[in-house]
Amino acid sequence: MALRPPTATIRTQVALPLRFADGFATDARVFSFDGLVDGREHLAFALGDRTAPRSVGGRRAVPLVRPHSECLTGDVFASQRCDCGAQLREAVERIADAGGYVLYLRQEGRGIGLYSKLEAYALQEGGVDTYEANLALGHAEDERSYVAAAQMLHALGVPEIALLSNNPDKARQLRSCGVTIVEQVPTGVHVSAANIRYLETKARRGDHMLDFPRPA
Ligand SMILES: [Zn+2]
Repeated sequence: MALRPPTATIRTQVALPLRFADGFATDARVFSFDGLVDGREHLAFALGDRTAPRSVGGRRAVPLVRPHSECLTGDVFASQRCDCGAQLREAVERIADAGGYVLYLRQEGRGIGLYSKLEAYALQEGGVDTYEANLALGHAEDERSYVAAAQMLHALGVPEIALLSNNPDKARQLRSCGVTIVEQVPTGVHVSAANIRYLETKARRGDHMLDFPRPA
């Protein structure tokens, strides 16, 4: 049953012109919030024409929304250990085109934090996978909660979305917080030599819907 989370409110909104390293540019409007349950400084980036979203899958047009978990190494430094930077870049362009929001969630390393993520990387150099490493450090495989993401959507007046994600847990948790997911839209798969094992593990252990391109 869906349980509506505590009410959050918009604290500030301001225009933020974006330009990525590859030259892609778009105008965002960034929102901060009061009353988010975990007290973290999560952000919503409104992109494109979110008041008149374009249908992405032929169904009813609702805003396209990507909840993106912060990854300092991937998002800022373009680390090839994961696909976060490429995922974020893809999401911004697709949402700018369709109309919707990137929810930038401050939950590094699937919620375990930046230093612990680096410790997990060190363990992975010894041969364990990304989920086993979290367990070895005394964390759960995935500690992310999307309650704050649902609060942000409610505060923005967006109860119905098209969810840009391959992660079934995001859909499950958002639904349980009263967000209607009209459609789940898969993201691209950004494979590199350095992240292929990580992506395969995500697909196997996290039930992510990843459609790996076949080697040419
Ligand atoms: Zn990452």
